[in-house]
Amino acid sequence: MLMLPDDFQPATQPLTESEQSPAWWLIFANNQLLVRPSATALELPWASVWPFAKWATRRRLYLGKLRGQPCYAAEAATAEPPPGWMFEGLRGLWTRLDDGLLGVASQALQLIEWDRSHQFCGQCGTPTERRAEERARRCPACEFMAYPRLSPVVMVRIVHEGRILLARAPRFASGMYSVLAGFVETGETLEQAIHREIAEEVGLQVQNLRYFASQSWPFPHSLMIAFTADYASGEIQVDGREILEAHWFTPDEMPGLPSPMSMAWRLIQDYLEHH
Ligand SMILES: [Zn+2]
Repeated sequence: MLMLPDDFQPATQPLTESEQSPAWWLIFANNQLLVRPSATALELPWASVWPFAKWATRRRLYLGKLRGQPCYAAEAATAEPPPGWMFEGLRGLWTRLDDGLLGVASQALQLIEWDRSHQFCGQCGTPTERRAEERARRCPACEFMAYPRLSPVVMVRIVHEGRILLARAPRFASGMYSVLAGFVETGETLEQAIHREIAEEVGLQVQNLRYFASQSWPFPHSLMIAFTADYASGEIQVDGREILEAHWFTPDEMPGLPSPMSMAWRLIQDYLEHH
């Protein structure tokens, strides 16, 4: 699952100036990560200083330490990779890149995007400055603070008489279905967001909401918060906008499912293991 590994210690700056041991460099261009195929796996740049002397960056951020080794995120000024290297999206790196590095890359991608999109104060327009002691950008004119963005998304698996509700959104690949999900709106609790989304998208009511698990999802900065629920009442009536089709499925008639990297897949796998 996509997450920061337990052996990663986040920090906004190296503890000591002498911390010059080799570091992982998570270098992005157009939200894609720089990797190099080797005989056994994919490699990331590994060097104690910026590894591509002739190559400019738009920004660099210290991330912390993975298994005792420093990690840096950077945004390249060009999307043309050095010879032998290539840029790839994080979705395509699942199971190909080391799990721990992929988890750190997920955070790196979100921090690069946040740093890039908060260069100016949202309140007065003055250029912001990066804070050394915390993950924040501060406006020197009006003291407005900008922190990394996180957008909570609720996701819910609804089961009725042994069958699971799966739905198709317009953006899905042909034949693919998933559990319902939606952004939490300002002022809502997670539970309210779930009941609202289900009512809006498929016209159902549910009961017995239970927390399942959560997962970071860096496309671009979501926190997926998954629940399970039982059907309570109503007839399926899709909204035709966010949801095109929704049906009850049994374990032996499952449609195309989302990526094993996703929270939705875990929710569905858990259903299949218990039915
Ligand atoms: Zn300001």
